[in-house]
Amino acid sequence: MSRVDEEAERFGIPRILLMENAGRAISRFILEKFGGHKVLIFAGTGNNGGDGFVAARHLAACGVEVTLFLVGDPARIRTHEASTNWEIVRRMRDSIKVHQVKIPEELEGVRRAIREGGVIVDAMLGTGLKGPIREPYASVVRLINESGVPVVAVDSPTGLDPTSGEVCGEAVKSTYTLTFHRAKRGFLKAKEYTGEVIVESIGIPPEVERSAIGERIPPPCVSHRRVPKLVSACLLGANCRYDGTSNSNEGVIRLAGAEALIPVCPEQLGGMGTPREPMEIVGGEGSDVLDGRARVLNRKGEDVTENMLRGADETLKIAKIFGVREAIFKSGSPSCGCGSGREKREGVTTALLRRNGIRVLSEECLRAESARTPCDPK
Ligand code: SF4
Repeated sequence: MSRVDEEAERFGIPRILLMENAGRAISRFILEKFGGHKVLIFAGTGNNGGDGFVAARHLAACGVEVTLFLVGDPARIRTHEASTNWEIVRRMRDSIKVHQVKIPEELEGVRRAIREGGVIVDAMLGTGLKGPIREPYASVVRLINESGVPVVAVDSPTGLDPTSGEVCGEAVKSTYTLTFHRAKRGFLKAKEYTGEVIVESIGIPPEVERSAIGERIPPPCVSHRRVPKLVSACLLGANCRYDGTSNSNEGVIRLAGAEALIPVCPEQLGGMGTPREPMEIVGGEGSDVLDGRARVLNRKGEDVTENMLRGADETLKIAKIFGVREAIFKSGSPSCGCGSGREKREGVTTALLRRNGIRVLSEECLRAESARTPCDPK
């Protein structure tokens, strides 16, 4: 990877551009996985830390509450790319809380911040480790590992040698490792530390890789996140609810900035107008309606089962055209309900999508998933 970086520079791609792409990829991943939650970023003084500074800027720009801990002495930020981005985040006084951890006495602030929860981003040390990690890194690693909150490692978990898979004294045990361009060889035997590995492109052309390594290599894997998801249109603010209002959800709206979402309203797709009478499933839940064991009645007692089934079919048709594998639906709806969280009833469209192998989460499940609370039982 260091040969690839050098070759990219010769090719005319400045390192600061690759850092920008890496930081942007981290923020996109966090928004997608965890929505608008609080994020604690631990950044070192090298280029791994630089990726963390860029991620902090992008997350703060999306309205996420960001606390950034610079672990180490700012005087040791030596590369032009990392120091440019450090100066920027230092100026973002209103949107990013910046703290420094240089000595063990400053660890109390870290402990306090971790106790308050959030998602942790480990951008302390990446590649090029030599020997056991030193203080204050080792103490921060221990605090992160004791925290019990989700951890996203940037490129490689701190303390893990990504080439050999050996642990350099202590290493961060992450939930996800977002690594750039290629997976690293050592990850194969370090699953306990890397968690799920996601390979993200940062825009290195194949010509650069060929000239750095001297062979033709298949392009890096395409991220699964480019496949769009279905979303209940009312969660995005569309006034398609039975009473002509929306269920606008800030976390879901924010997600729309990070990935492709296709808004659908199964009840409208089933031919029902807005406003319309509220309705409920009588005699079971969504799958019972699909199997003819239950019906859907509106408040006037009219049977709207056929509309509900048509809406489910139309939604599935859209899902198939776009190769959708996941949907984020409004909880509590006889069409979109996901059967978990506060309400336990599964909607008709949800039942049909699940029968076709599509994962359905509610906006509540999305929030619970961010906090790593099991929510989706199906
Ligand atoms: Fe929202 Fe779904 Fe109800 Fe339409 S059918 S209003 S998308 S919950």
